[in-house]
Amino acid sequence: MTTLKMPNSLPKRLDKNCIKQFLNSFDNVLTDCDGVLWVGDSVIGRANEAINQLRALGKKVFYVTNNSSRSRDAYVEKFKRLGFIVKKEEIVSPSYVMAQYLKQQDFNKKVYIIGSSGMTEELEEVGISHTGVAPEPFKGPVTDLPNTIKLDPDVGAVAVGFDTHFSFPKLMRAASHLNDPNCLFIATNTDERFPIGETSLVFPGTGCLVRCVETAARRPPVAMGKPSEKMFSVISDKHHLEPTRTLMIGDKCTTDILFGKNCGLHTLVVLSGVTEMKELEDLASTTDDEKRKLLADYYLPELTDLIPLLSI
Ligand SMILES: [Mg+2]
Repeated sequence: MTTLKMPNSLPKRLDKNCIKQFLNSFDNVLTDCDGVLWVGDSVIGRANEAINQLRALGKKVFYVTNNSSRSRDAYVEKFKRLGFIVKKEEIVSPSYVMAQYLKQQDFNKKVYIIGSSGMTEELEEVGISHTGVAPEPFKGPVTDLPNTIKLDPDVGAVAVGFDTHFSFPKLMRAASHLNDPNCLFIATNTDERFPIGETSLVFPGTGCLVRCVETAARRPPVAMGKPSEKMFSVISDKHHLEPTRTLMIGDKCTTDILFGKNCGLHTLVVLSGVTEMKELEDLASTTDDEKRKLLADYYLPELTDLIPLLSI
C-alpha cells in the first residue's frame, strides 16, 4: 500500500502572536556564529543586542561554531570586541569537542594534525600531545616520497581541520597513519564550502580536505562539528541541558538545523547567512523525509527582528 506523503510546512515566521509560546518553550539557546551573529568582522544588524536580551530574560546562551581555526581564548576576544556578553565555557568549537572526545577515552598517544593552532591549543589545554602545525610542501620527485616520509610511531590519531597548507605529503602521511586500524580518525567538521561576498568564487571548506584523507584511508572519520550530536553531548553533559528546553539558532539548514533536529532541539533559522527563502520553499515542497529534517520550526529574516518582539 502506498501512503500519500503530505508536503512539509514552512517554518513559522516568529511574530507577536507566537512569541510568548516560543519564549516559554526553551531555557537554553545554542547559536551558530557566522551568518547569524556576524559576517567576517562585522555584527549582523543588532544581533549582539538580541542575544544579550535573551540572556537578560534568563536564557543560558552557548555559541556553537564549526570553525576550528581559532581557540576558544581567541574567540572570547572577538565576541567581546563585537559587543557580545561571553564566558569561555559558553563557546563550543569542533577543536574543543575533539579535545574532550579524546580526553574521555584516556587517549595517551600523539595526534597527527592537518589543521591550525585552534586545534593544537585545545589539545594542549587537556594535556594531549600532537605533531604541531606547519606547511609541508611537496618537494619532488614523487618517487622520493616513500623515502622522505617517516611516520612518527607515537601517533594514535589523525585529526583533520581547516588547513590552507594542505598538501600531498600531508595527505600521504595522514592516510599512512590510518593504515593502522587502531589509529583514530577525527574530522573537525565536514562543511563543503562558504560563500565569499559578491564574487562568484567558491571558498572550499574543511569537508573537502576530509574527503581527500577519507578516500585515501578508505574509511570515514568521526566528525566533531555540527550536525554531529557529539557537539551537543559535550555541552549538555557539562551544563545539564535538556534537549526539549533548548533552542538552536542557525543560518545553514544542512549543518545548524539538522544538528538541532538530530539532537531533539527547537530550531530557528535566520536568513542573514547562506539560506534564502527560496531554499525553505523548496524544502517545504519536497516529499523526501531526509530533507524534511532540514526545515526549522521558526524563521526570521535576521536576529535583529527578535528585538521588538522581546518587549511585547
Ligand atoms: Mg553559519
